Amino acid sequence: MSSSSAKVGRLTLCPTPIGNLRDITLRTLDVLREADVIACEDTRRTGVLLDHHDLRHDGLTLLSLHEHNERERVPDLVRRMRDGAHVALVSDAGTPLISDPGFPLVAAAIAEGVPVQALPGPSAAITALVASGLPASSFRFVGFLPRGGGELTRLLGGCSETVVAFESPRRLADSLALLARLDPQRPVAVCRELSKLHEEVVRGQAAELAARFAEQEARGEIVLVIGAGGQQGDRRAAGEALEALVEAGARRRPAARVLAGLTGVSANELYRSHTPGSGQEPKRESDATPVDGPGTAEYEATGAADSLRRA
Ligand code: SAM
Repeated sequence: MSSSSAKVGRLTLCPTPIGNLRDITLRTLDVLREADVIACEDTRRTGVLLDHHDLRHDGLTLLSLHEHNERERVPDLVRRMRDGAHVALVSDAGTPLISDPGFPLVAAAIAEGVPVQALPGPSAAITALVASGLPASSFRFVGFLPRGGGELTRLLGGCSETVVAFESPRRLADSLALLARLDPQRPVAVCRELSKLHEEVVRGQAAELAARFAEQEARGEIVLVIGAGGQQGDRRAAGEALEALVEAGARRRPAARVLAGLTGVSANELYRSHTPGSGQEPKRESDATPVDGPGTAEYEATGAADSLRRA
C-alpha cells in the first residue's frame, strides 16, 4: 500500500526475532505488511524475514538505516512521515535502539510531532535476564560490556543489582576472569544463542564459569547476566570499619554485631576474620555465644549507636 494524503504519517518501532524467525508478534507482522517504508539495518537480512513471513507488498520501500548513514537518512525519513508515510523501523534482530540504530530517528520524529509507537517484542537483553535465574525485578542494562579492566571493575564493583550486558564470544573469557578476580562467588549466567539451535544458558559462580570458558572459546551471540555484587565489597568495607571502630575504642564483638546489622555481612564472619589470631575457637564460655543473633539484621543507625555506647 503506498502513502496517500488521507493517511497520517507515523513511525512504528518493530522488534524482530533474535534467532527463531517465528518469534514475531501478530501486530508486528501487520505493521510490516502495511508499512510504506521499512527502515532496516541490512536490507538483505530484513529481506529474509519479509520473505519468510510473506510480507513483501507492492509499494513497499526498504531503506537502510545504520550507524554510518543514520544522520543523513533521518531528515528524509521524517519528511516522508510528514507527507503521510507509515515508516516501520526494524534492526537486524531484537528491539531497535537497544544497542542498535534508531535513536536519532525517534528523537527527530518526536521533535517534528510525528506519532511514534513502539511495539513490544523480542530483545536478547530481556530474554537473557529472565532465563538467567537471577533477580529480575531491578536490573541495570549496560549495552556492550566495557573493554577496559578499570571501567569494568568500576561498573561491577559498585553495582548492587543484576547487570545485563552484551558480550562478544572473543572477550567472554577475559571478562569472566576479571569478574572472578573481583568476586569469585558472584553469580553469573552466560546466555548464548538464545532461541537458536545451539541455545545454552550456563549458570554458576564467576570462578567456575571463568574456568569453564577459559578452556574453550564460546561461539555465537552472548548476553552476560551478572548477579548483584556487594557481599565481597561489603565484607571488605565492614572489616575496615570494624578495625576503625576498635581503634577508636569500641569493643570488637559488639562493634561486629552492629556492623553486621548495617551491612548484612555475618557478624561471626566479621568477628573471626578480623580478630588477631582469628580462626581460633573462642576460649571463654561467654565468647562461645554466636555473635549473630535474632534481630541482628534489624539494627538501625540509632540502635547501632546505642549498642556501641553500651559496649
Ligand atoms: N537490539 C538487539 C536486541 O534487542 O536484542 C541487540 C542488538 S546488539 C547489536 C547485538 C547483541 O545482542 C549481540 O552481540 C549479543 O550480545 C546479543 N544477542 C543478540 N541475539 C542474541 C541471541 N540470540 N542470543 C544471545 N545474545 C544475543
